[in-house]
Amino acid sequence: MTNDKNIMVILSSPSGVGKTTITKKIQQKYPSFKISVSHTTRKPRSNEVNGVDYYFVSAKEFEELINKNKFYEYAKIFGNYYGTLKKNVDDAIKKNDIIFDIDWQGTKKLSQFGNLKLIKLYLITENKIELKKRLIKRNLDSKQEVEKRFKSFEEDVKHWYDYDYVIINKNLDNCFKQIEKIILKHKEKKIYLTS
Ligand code: 5GP
Repeated sequence: MTNDKNIMVILSSPSGVGKTTITKKIQQKYPSFKISVSHTTRKPRSNEVNGVDYYFVSAKEFEELINKNKFYEYAKIFGNYYGTLKKNVDDAIKKNDIIFDIDWQGTKKLSQFGNLKLIKLYLITENKIELKKRLIKRNLDSKQEVEKRFKSFEEDVKHWYDYDYVIINKNLDNCFKQIEKIILKHKEKKIYLTS
């Protein structure tokens, strides 16, 4: 069940484009936004906190949640499960706007729920070389993980047409401003239409 005035924004991108940074920036500037915290079977990175970045669970726990139909969507990405719990979204939207940092598979599945009114944004870098540089520079994944993530680029970008907006993250501040504009436009429209 959605609150009429609150909006749901999906941010997707190939790994390394800067989506997590932007998601956090939106939440810092606009406290009405809650980031949807996904469940994953991936191991936490050194800078990640359970319950903040993800709920880190075992494959057994994740599969139990699948069997109990607890997810709006889930996908296997780079060999691990990632999923969005229905309860977390349904609770959050009563009081907050929501940002989802999920991939194209999750976006497709969430789009099938008529009750979720989504604004879908896809972020890309200006070219592949820049993406590789950023994946290496952020230094959060092993060399093997970087390769896996880089290789998924071609498949990932094929899905840009499932999104309402495609934004190039060449400069973080400009990219953020563009996203801000889109979000505020949709938010104002909703407030206007429902008041
Ligand atoms: P990472 O391991 O780098 O945190 O995330 C890998 C990919 O999984 C990213 O593209 C991220 O957006 C995506 N992801 C994170 N949570 C979810 C989720 O709940 N569902 C889906 N479908 N993708 C997710």
